[in-house]
Amino acid sequence: MEEQRFVIEASEAKSMAQSLGLTLAQLLPTLVKSAQPLARVPISKFHVAAVGVGVSGRIFIGVNVEFPDLPFHHTIHAEQFLLTNLSLNKETHLQYFAVSAAPCGHCRQFLQEIRNASDIRLLITSESDPKFKSLSEFLSHPFGPHDLLPKHAPLLLEPRNNDLSFREIETQSNGYNESSISISKLKVAALEAANDSHAPYSESPSGVALLDSRGNVYKGSYMESAAYNPSVGPVQAAIVAFITGAGNGGGEYGELVEAVLVEKDDAVVKQEHTAKLLLSSISPHCRFNIFLCISNKKP
Ligand SMILES: [Zn+2]
Repeated sequence: MEEQRFVIEASEAKSMAQSLGLTLAQLLPTLVKSAQPLARVPISKFHVAAVGVGVSGRIFIGVNVEFPDLPFHHTIHAEQFLLTNLSLNKETHLQYFAVSAAPCGHCRQFLQEIRNASDIRLLITSESDPKFKSLSEFLSHPFGPHDLLPKHAPLLLEPRNNDLSFREIETQSNGYNESSISISKLKVAALEAANDSHAPYSESPSGVALLDSRGNVYKGSYMESAAYNPSVGPVQAAIVAFITGAGNGGGEYGELVEAVLVEKDDAVVKQEHTAKLLLSSISPHCRFNIFLCISNKKP
């Protein structure tokens, strides 16, 4: 495998498995070790990789990401990275994944955001006799979306549209001259990300779009957990897009030059301050802009 990629197309995954005489699920643990060096772990030096297959037959890679100088809650766990990667690529379900270390409680909880989460099968490669087991074996009495949401509410990875738009007259732009094309492009991308955001518990969806110095745009959607704390912030999701899309997984955060956050003007969960804090820490020259949107959903 060319280790530096975060998505393997279905046809290639199939032929990789066939050439080794394995099923797609059996192929996953063979890819974990080569993915571990992609983790960005300046604090723990503990490289975690999670490699999963979705319903489309594509293979996705997730790794853990840590940010020095910031509180731990900014951290992205490998399983959260994996689900963000699936979400960015419009994959609607995770079937199997292999991971280098036992998932922490936080990740067992975050995985509950997927429909029929208990059926997801996972394998821990560091065990002496690794086998796929159901997620329900790792979290036997789960609290999850079913406790808080109507049965048919869209869950994580399922299509949604939060029906957000900008007001006709701009509400806020933090003093930055908006004539720039890049800001307009980022605004569109961040609004799209906010419309895809899984935020059914706070009803405060949000999205972030980042621009790098080469003109590439990376967007990420806020993704909530029924248990609140395992939620993934919109900047974290956009950073996953940057890492997976930056080619060879090697992009430096200092390449990020412009950021746009879109959130609701009446949001009860606001991302502005924490988003600004994270971005100013990892890329001090990155300009930060916030635009408020409104929900067109009927109450
Ligand atoms: Zn975890």
